[in-house]
Amino acid sequence: MKRLIQALDDALVERFGVPKRNPKTPDPLDILVGTILSQNTNDRNSHRAYERLKERYDSWEEVARLTPSKLEREIKAAGLGKQKSKAILGALRRVIRERGAATLDYLRERSDEDILDHLVSFEGVAEKTASCVLLFSLKRNVCPVDTHVHRTLNRIGVTATKSPTQTFAALAGNIPDGAAHRFHTNLIRLGREICKPAKPLCGACPVKERCRHEPKNLDAAEATKTNDFFLLDAI
Ligand code: SF4
Repeated sequence: MKRLIQALDDALVERFGVPKRNPKTPDPLDILVGTILSQNTNDRNSHRAYERLKERYDSWEEVARLTPSKLEREIKAAGLGKQKSKAILGALRRVIRERGAATLDYLRERSDEDILDHLVSFEGVAEKTASCVLLFSLKRNVCPVDTHVHRTLNRIGVTATKSPTQTFAALAGNIPDGAAHRFHTNLIRLGREICKPAKPLCGACPVKERCRHEPKNLDAAEATKTNDFFLLDAI
């Protein structure tokens, strides 16, 4: 699997380039909150909600003192306010209660597995959110699996899995060193612009020679241009 992933990574980089990484090293708690805000919405809307919190409050401790309904109003732009405010307040208050401050710095020295196990024990934090903290803040070589990554990897035939959780498990140890960020980001772009859920544009696909999926739309010459703003590299 590792060799196939390497070949796909090369083909994706040839088409899309190496995506820019955030020049800063974002704080793990910032990424945790940002990723919760990004669930089931687009990156621009979740970024608006994230920026609003950062502008209006001096610290995550201050946000933790908001009532759920007040936080829900503050993050309205990201949608699913009730669910997201509950998850954010739950995580912030638990960290403050257990560690005395709003910080996830205590995770920095732990292994990938320990960090994942710990973060998914927070209510409303699933594996994808936890793995985003690992990749985007702690710079570990793990590839978070969202719906685009799951769909494209299964169509290509890298994995044969039924859920993003299974896909994430199958990828463990198979991402070439240092490739996780570009592979993850370029697969999302592939899924948004070319390997779309209902209408894959196989004619325009940079990995079509390696794909085991029944080809569709082989006459498609161009990808759809989408918004290529990535929230977690803008925090
Ligand atoms: S060849 Fe078609 S199905 Fe395969 S990854 Fe590309 S767009 Fe998706």
